[in-house]
Amino acid sequence: ESQLNPNYSFENFLEGDSNRLARSAGLAVASKPGGTSFNPLLIFGGVGLGKTHLAHAIGVDIKDKYPEKTVLYISAEKFTQQYIDAVKKNNRNDFIHFYQIIDVLIIDDVQFLSGKSGTQDVFFHIFNHLHQNGKQVILTSDKAPVDMQDIEQRLLSRFKWGLSAELQNPDFETRVSILKNKLYRDGVEMPEDIIDYVAKNIKTNVRELEGAIISLIAQSSFNKKEITIDLAKQIVEKFVKNTKREVSIDYIQKTVSEYFQMDISTLQSKTRKRHIVQARQLAMFFAKKFTKASLASIGSQIGKRDHATVLHACKTVDNLSSTDKQFRKYVEDITKKLSI
Ligand code: ADP
Ligand code: MG
Repeated sequence: ESQLNPNYSFENFLEGDSNRLARSAGLAVASKPGGTSFNPLLIFGGVGLGKTHLAHAIGVDIKDKYPEKTVLYISAEKFTQQYIDAVKKNNRNDFIHFYQIIDVLIIDDVQFLSGKSGTQDVFFHIFNHLHQNGKQVILTSDKAPVDMQDIEQRLLSRFKWGLSAELQNPDFETRVSILKNKLYRDGVEMPEDIIDYVAKNIKTNVRELEGAIISLIAQSSFNKKEITIDLAKQIVEKFVKNTKREVSIDYIQKTVSEYFQMDISTLQSKTRKRHIVQARQLAMFFAKKFTKASLASIGSQIGKRDHATVLHACKTVDNLSSTDKQFRKYVEDITKKLSI
């Protein structure tokens, strides 16, 4: 059982500037699995930008061209669970053997392996075996290897051996063609101005783009309402509001370091320079305020600090914002940026 979803094909994965490199690399890998320098092929990008779809498409295409090859798709989460079960049952060797005889291994969301050293270790051995034997490895992740946290260096360096290709936010034209393709496949007609409206307003997540269109179709058919711009507005608003709440620690670090015009690595560094310390404390403060992450998890993601440091940072920011006018402006500016 390859666990591949045939609907996630290349045919259904529309091309645009945002995905051209990743898509072509995927096609190249599919025509010569293990035979290109794209090994591993790592596809990275934000939520809902098509990583899982593209990873399946490569697998589906390989199965099509090389029916004799064994292709396996698995999420890093499931892989981890399987490994834990195998260890419990004393089957560690069987587990490793099972993965070492696969021709094409696709592991989705490898960022999930963060901090899981046992699973990273076993994956390291499987990876080496496959790679040495000319087997293809395809990985997806929510960030580039350089930005990955709590993944062993030796594994990160392997991730960088092949090609890391980014899926970026699709531009307007691509968003329109994705919507049109979806409507066409579902046999639904929709006025052009409505499609444009949805594509104009949902910019950073293809899953939500599709979700909005699905809601629109459902609303109009269940409630026998005509699809109007007003209805589209109501639905789009719901989607855009929902995304606003989803601020990640990565996004916070990026926003804060951009605001102070420094690199994320500077923000995370051990330096005690005052303006850098303050930027770091602000990032921690906002992570506490805008995410559900624990203090320990915030600390480990922002420069590997402990929870006490994060707590101290939050107090410092509270104090400074009530005593220092300039500092209060920082807090207000960044809050605005984070709530767009
Ligand atoms: P990710 O794994 O990056 O979170 P998914 O692969 O689950 O994202 O994609 C989310 C949805 O968007 C899926 O339904 C997928 O089919 C669709 N999608 C993403 N990119 C494209 C694209 N370029 N063309 C068509 N559909 C796309
Ligand atoms: Mg995914």
